[in-house]
Amino acid sequence: MTDGNATLRIISGVDGKSPACFLVEAEGRRIMLDLGYGPPVGMYPDVDDVGKVDALIIGHSHKDHAGSLHLREKIGNPPIYAGAIVAGRIDTGETINILPLKGVGEVLGIAIETGRTGHAPGGLWLNLKVGKGLLYMSDHTVDSIVYDWDQATPAHTVLLDGSYGDSDEPMADQQRDILAIAKRGGLLLPVPADGRGPEIALYLMREGVTNLRMDAPMRASVKRLIEIDSDTLRPGVREELQELEKLALPVDDDPTAVTVACPAAAGSGETARLAALWEKETMPAIVFNGFVPENTTADRLVKAGRAVYRCWNVHPRLSENAELVRVTGAKVVVPCFGETAPYMEAFRKAFAPAEVTIDRVLTL
Ligand SMILES: [Zn+2]
Repeated sequence: MTDGNATLRIISGVDGKSPACFLVEAEGRRIMLDLGYGPPVGMYPDVDDVGKVDALIIGHSHKDHAGSLHLREKIGNPPIYAGAIVAGRIDTGETINILPLKGVGEVLGIAIETGRTGHAPGGLWLNLKVGKGLLYMSDHTVDSIVYDWDQATPAHTVLLDGSYGDSDEPMADQQRDILAIAKRGGLLLPVPADGRGPEIALYLMREGVTNLRMDAPMRASVKRLIEIDSDTLRPGVREELQELEKLALPVDDDPTAVTVACPAAAGSGETARLAALWEKETMPAIVFNGFVPENTTADRLVKAGRAVYRCWNVHPRLSENAELVRVTGAKVVVPCFGETAPYMEAFRKAFAPAEVTIDRVLTL
């Protein structure tokens, strides 16, 4: 641990869906954790008054954690640190300093323990040895059938992924519902290729769905997982993904097939085209399965009754977070990336005796 006080400033990422952006100040160093964009359309973190930052660590490559890298010029263009798999997915054209997938790294003389989050290719949790210890979980889950995870290590203060509030719905219920629709006939599943897309496709293959289709970004993502990023996978999954690559055909607009395509909110790309093609038809079923931002194609189709929303967990359930708090021995817990007001009581009960807070400035 570092001598003396360290401070955490929450720039964005608590009290509602907002981009991840946190600032740690310790030993005269200023380290930013994530610099995201959205998910609400047009929402950037306000870094105008942040001043000069010495290093930026990116936990995983999703837009809401890494989508505002252009804002670095407002904070003195700090060097970027990330795991190798994430570094390969945030193509800035410059050298990125590599942190271990699991182990102990170092940023400007500050030791940082890392491990995999199970949420996205190469996604890392970060345990910063500052103050009494700060664990930043980024987005995380133990439920993924594709992405492996490492147990987080103890820390006094934990920023955890509270995206799902007090929901404790088991993944098995969600899988069962989506499988039932897939087995009834045609189905379009709009997904992010670097997240739950490969998970859903693999799950359906395991359950005997053979009429699968995947669009180009999905195929590229699966190929990359097999060929380059296999360290992020659970044991045995690489071989299964090779099978999936052979089984799933390119998208051919067949309304009786099960099509897994991108992007997740169908605002552009292949899913925008397919949604427009099939909007007036009754087949295939369309199931959105991640956060549905307002004023998107996904939002419009769900409200019109042409599509349905069925969650596929890529963030922790409440009981999973309670276990994380217990195992890490956290004394202070900050639930991030979702609404907090409606769930504060549930969080306090689940995480007791830890204190639960969304204060914007915390002494570590
Ligand atoms: Zn994410």
